[in-house]
Amino acid sequence: MNGEQILISGGAGFIGTHLSRRLLAKGYDILCVDNFFTGTKNNIIEFLDNPHFEMLRHDVTFPLYVEVDQIYNLACPASPIHYQHDPVQTTKTSVHGAINMLGLAKRVRAKILQASTSEVYGDPSVHPQTESYWGNVNPIGPRACYDEGKRCAETLFFDYHRQHGLAIKVARLFNTYGPNMHPQDGRVVSNFIMQALQNRPITLFGDGEQTRSFCYVDDLIEALIALMESDSSVTGPMNLGNPVEFSIRQLAETVIRLTGSSSQIIYKSLPTDDPKQRQPNIDLARKMLGWEPKIQLEEGLKRTIAYFDEQLQSGKIATDS
Ligand code: NAD
Ligand code: UDP
Repeated sequence: MNGEQILISGGAGFIGTHLSRRLLAKGYDILCVDNFFTGTKNNIIEFLDNPHFEMLRHDVTFPLYVEVDQIYNLACPASPIHYQHDPVQTTKTSVHGAINMLGLAKRVRAKILQASTSEVYGDPSVHPQTESYWGNVNPIGPRACYDEGKRCAETLFFDYHRQHGLAIKVARLFNTYGPNMHPQDGRVVSNFIMQALQNRPITLFGDGEQTRSFCYVDDLIEALIALMESDSSVTGPMNLGNPVEFSIRQLAETVIRLTGSSSQIIYKSLPTDDPKQRQPNIDLARKMLGWEPKIQLEEGLKRTIAYFDEQLQSGKIATDS
């Protein structure tokens, strides 16, 4: 074991769980810091007997004093339903959470990675999105607590880098999916799979022509670790995602086909400020990390469907009533 201590804030969430598993396998010691807002104990139960994994229930909006070598700052609800549930807390988590994690990194001279988001581009007028695009975000809309919180966190990361010489990595994650997503978090992949597996109506928002580019979580984890381990001159911001773009209607039809479901598509109104299109340009990640996604949508969906199916069959997650 290499003995380096890695703090993962938001470590009991969807991405944090996969990251913990991969870093434990690489020989690191993990300190998982989470307030269980959207993460669950069930997600991390497989690690609790591992002496190299430690869980700390803590809210990152409060300062934290621990000794670590690296920090992955993932703490923040990611689904629109969850981050709009308590928007003030969402902004606090992004902004105060970043300040506290950056302050900790500065004190112990740890390398720190920020899980930023494609939402910093808002409803983009440049397509596909490159890192040099400054975005088109409504600062007062219902998504702003998340988008602007993440934008401010990026500002803080770069100011700590310039002002204090901190080693930073800023990753802009595009829509990521896979096992361990929260079954009721309202994100499109988990929603459609849960609906299809129970032969319930598939809720398509708007006309379904809006697009997203979906990255399977294993591919994303590989990129996050490669970015953290890259040369100190590589700070980002760096887009991480799968550049293959699908309409949400195509996603619905694919999920229905792969599950063999009898679900029908029903139409609901499009949420305010829902971005019309989203596709990452990943040239920078290809060049600096030698990375690109390997798992395409159908394969990733099959694995995710198998996970939710098993969870439903075994009663680990409740059926919708
Ligand atoms: P998630 O909701 O499953 O995980 C977030 C975790 O943060 C949860 O365990 C939650 O309990 C924890 N958390 C929230 N507020 C906290 C607080 N104040 N203190 C401590 N812990 C707190 O979401 P995820 O999909 O795993 O996302 C992880 C990170 O990646 C987030 O920062 C998110 O913004 C970013 N991201 C995710 C995606 C995606 O498609 N999944 C896309 C872009 C960015
Ligand atoms: N969406 C949908 N039906 C659902 C959930 C989401 O049509 O049951 C749409 C949503 O309006 C958006 C896209 O799917 O256009 C992706 O939504 P998600 O909440 O997963 O993430 P976003 O990329 O919008 O943050």
